[in-house]
Amino acid sequence: MSSPAFSQALHVLQQVFGYPAFRGLQAEIIANAIDGHDALVLMPTGGGKSLCYQIPAIVRQQQGRGLTVVVSPLIALMHDQVRALQQVGVAAQCLHSALDFAQAQSVLAQARSGQLTLLYAAPERVTSAPFQDFLAALYQRGQLALFAIDEAHCVSQWGHDFRPEYRQLALLHERFPQVPRLALTATADAVTREDIIERLQLQQAQCYVSSFDRPNICYHVVEKSDARRQLLRFIEDEHEGDAGIVYCQSRKKVEETAEWLVQNGIDALPYHAGLPADERQRHQDRFLREEGLVMTATIAFGMGIDKPDVRFVAHLDMPKNIEGYYQETGRAGRDGLPADAWMAYGLADVVNQRRMIDDPQSPASEAHRQVMRAKLDALLAMAETTECRRVHLLAYFGEHSEPCGNCDNCLFPPETWDATEAARKLLSCIWRVQQKSGIAFGAGHLIDILRGKPTPKVEQHGHAQLSTFGIGADLGERQWSTLIRQLVARDAIVADAASFNTLRLGPAAKAVLAGTQPIRLRVASEKPARGNGSL
Ligand code: ADP
Ligand code: ZN
Repeated sequence: MSSPAFSQALHVLQQVFGYPAFRGLQAEIIANAIDGHDALVLMPTGGGKSLCYQIPAIVRQQQGRGLTVVVSPLIALMHDQVRALQQVGVAAQCLHSALDFAQAQSVLAQARSGQLTLLYAAPERVTSAPFQDFLAALYQRGQLALFAIDEAHCVSQWGHDFRPEYRQLALLHERFPQVPRLALTATADAVTREDIIERLQLQQAQCYVSSFDRPNICYHVVEKSDARRQLLRFIEDEHEGDAGIVYCQSRKKVEETAEWLVQNGIDALPYHAGLPADERQRHQDRFLREEGLVMTATIAFGMGIDKPDVRFVAHLDMPKNIEGYYQETGRAGRDGLPADAWMAYGLADVVNQRRMIDDPQSPASEAHRQVMRAKLDALLAMAETTECRRVHLLAYFGEHSEPCGNCDNCLFPPETWDATEAARKLLSCIWRVQQKSGIAFGAGHLIDILRGKPTPKVEQHGHAQLSTFGIGADLGERQWSTLIRQLVARDAIVADAASFNTLRLGPAAKAVLAGTQPIRLRVASEKPARGNGSL
């Protein structure tokens, strides 16, 4: 590329930031923005999104076009960026709620008098009436160079981090149509992407999609049996003394897990939104500064945390969808060195996530639930696959790829067997039991029937007389458990969490019963562990 915009951009990259060359799509994105066009930028974490608007901001300021306003959702994020810019001599400031009135006025005065190149602010600030007046005054003088909307997926309710304040940002385009806009995000599947375009009125914008592959991250998914111990083993065996993040679903579990890791000799700290602000800050600072700390956290931790040497990200509970999974695991290995994404996964995860989506208490519309279900299903398929996980992950973002050689399934190809017939036996067993007794039963009881175990419960309900009694004696309990989980993941079985995880046939049962949907399972290697919630 050799446009004037490009040479200006390259000059700034080298002189101000000290980097020799652009990465990936940076050059095109930057030239496009310098030329005053809108763009939507999808680039994975660590891909170098900041320069995509910082360099246009500098160049457009040099051209006499004035201020770039950066919308950013987190104070910590703004601080880091502003500090880094100031260090290389770029005039940047941020406006946030922690500034007092005089400080805020001083920042605004600098911006008004043309001394600032970049001004960072939260979305609710940017859309407030006083700030809009401030922008209007600059606009009239031709002194608004660019709007950058960072973490743009926050505008979409399909994203994993919806922030209603982002919705108002369409205002920027309506009131200041001549100012180019750059929306940036590290996560966006097709649905979210469309939503961002619509919500921010970016229909005319150029869309830049970088590869979402993070080749240095090795993906592992293990079947839950005793998740905490499995995690400990993983850390001890693979990541002794490394920095890592362990994600749990609840605050309580975060605290328990951190405590338990500490008892077992791992340097771990808890982090969740329920901790006092100063404690959270202290833990975050320690994690960033010290080496080899393990942060045990809810998803409240992570956005904007730029620690390059996080060697592993572990999930003790499954995230809501692939975007969340991708975003969270993406915090590992930003330095490009080998890192691991590890997740323990079991039936309870599937049931919990489904229940949250279907929760009658939640105000979500049916259309919303449908989208959430599809997103969850994509993650389940990734967790259940016996093929390359990266191929699955990237396919979700619309990228075609070949088996990667750097995920558990590629490195240790699982031995599989054809479970289609077993699945039919299982489904007919569920059906027969329900026909006979009029109520649904849990996994343990169904497995006893299939394996022909005359337990007191089997006797009591007369289930030994069923034609399916003992037809599955050839398989172990573990195999049946795995099969049940797979079929729940595929919606062929519905586990009713409200009534002790009883199992009923689901909408996809028909296809499995008809044998039109082949099912392959990995051969279970460990001994079955019944009754510990490992299903
Ligand atoms: P993102 O916001 O996409 O997660 P950042 O903008 O924080 O990523 O960039 C990640 C890291 O890569 C930063 O340390 C940044 O300085 C560095 N970086 C970005 N672009 C380049 C480049 N062209 N050459 C060298 N380093 C770069
Ligand atoms: Zn692979």
